[in-house]
Amino acid sequence: MTDAPVTAVLDGLATVRGWQEDFYRDLHAHPELPHAERRTAGQVAGRMRDAGYEVHEQVGGTGVVGILRNGEGPVVLLRADMDALPVREDTGLPYASTQVTDDGTPTMHACGHDVHVTCLLGAATLLSDAPEQWSGTVVALFQPAEEAADGARGMVADGLVELVGSVDVAMAQHVLPFPAGTLGTRPGPALSAADSMRVTVHGRGAHGSTPQAAVDPVVLAAMIVVRLQSIVAREVAPTDTAVLTVGSIQAGTKSNVIPDRAVLQLNVRTYDEQTRTKVLEAIERIVRAECTASGSPADPEFELFDRYPLTRNDPEVTGRVAAAFADFFGHRARELPAQSASEDFSDIPAALGAPYTYWFFGGTDPDAYRAAEEAGRITDDIPVNHSATFAPVLQPTLDTGTQALVVAAMAWLQHSPSAD
Ligand SMILES: [Zn+2]
Ligand SMILES: [Zn+2]
Repeated sequence: MTDAPVTAVLDGLATVRGWQEDFYRDLHAHPELPHAERRTAGQVAGRMRDAGYEVHEQVGGTGVVGILRNGEGPVVLLRADMDALPVREDTGLPYASTQVTDDGTPTMHACGHDVHVTCLLGAATLLSDAPEQWSGTVVALFQPAEEAADGARGMVADGLVELVGSVDVAMAQHVLPFPAGTLGTRPGPALSAADSMRVTVHGRGAHGSTPQAAVDPVVLAAMIVVRLQSIVAREVAPTDTAVLTVGSIQAGTKSNVIPDRAVLQLNVRTYDEQTRTKVLEAIERIVRAECTASGSPADPEFELFDRYPLTRNDPEVTGRVAAAFADFFGHRARELPAQSASEDFSDIPAALGAPYTYWFFGGTDPDAYRAAEEAGRITDDIPVNHSATFAPVLQPTLDTGTQALVVAAMAWLQHSPSAD
């Protein structure tokens, strides 16, 4: 049975929905790249101020934090990311982005962060409009630069912890290509940790006809690529999961010149810290050993970049949210498998020392999804996040994301029946 305070807060959705849809279309048409979310941040701050929140701008560059104190009770942090991607939109939507940056880079909300911003603004407004239904503090956090992997860290470095103080629970959500109106979560690992690494190995250049005068970094790099495959196959337990991809390998300029270096770029995905450390250490060990085996004249260089933390949902928090979802959404809420994508959200609760949960909600037209499913063409026909044709349907996507935030937050904030 759904608790009355939740339904009372969500009664306001009918009024909020109208401006939300307009706001969404406008935001979708005006995407901004990581760290450049100035227009978006300005609009968010204005809306939050109108809704009665204490608003802090320029937290970690373009981040916005809204705080609403409503008496004694838990502090609940809700987070939305604001940034877009360098993608040329090809959705054909009437509100499609035609924006390009000053240097000519096309921009698009191809990951759906415009959905997240709109839903959080709606949820924050609904909670502010019905203060008699709950007590505690709501922190609505709008984060820049998720796609650059450093937006959350930037807000933390800029004093986020001092700004919001102690937080009891933190939550975030992501729209994904499954039927709009449905949503799901899972306890434990929900999103992978990601690490990219640039490895430079050194050789000795020479003429292609005199290999005896060279240390060939092309052969060295090739040996490394092959040997790295043994990490997942031979060092990671079959019950653990890891992905190691060498996505780029560059060396040389001409067929008869042995170059003096090779550069490899790797990407690693893991679901627990031990496996993560093990894989990263194994890469370094193998690269160093192969360099020794080749007689490389200088030490290899390692540079880690685009690092995303593991998103591991707190079981207790997630259980409470899942129960609230089941109560409110019925069969539309379910448990989902872990996703291999990555997120920097957990840097925020990690800094605050708060337990957290992260869930997913659908953005695909349910009829289109069903048709694709029946034809066995989901991977062919349903556009995914980051693609130029990713186009969440307005409804019930916005309603569901907004309701989910309210339902989850109210699982902490609502008056207990005895207090009513
Ligand atoms: Zn993304
Ligand atoms: Zn995203």
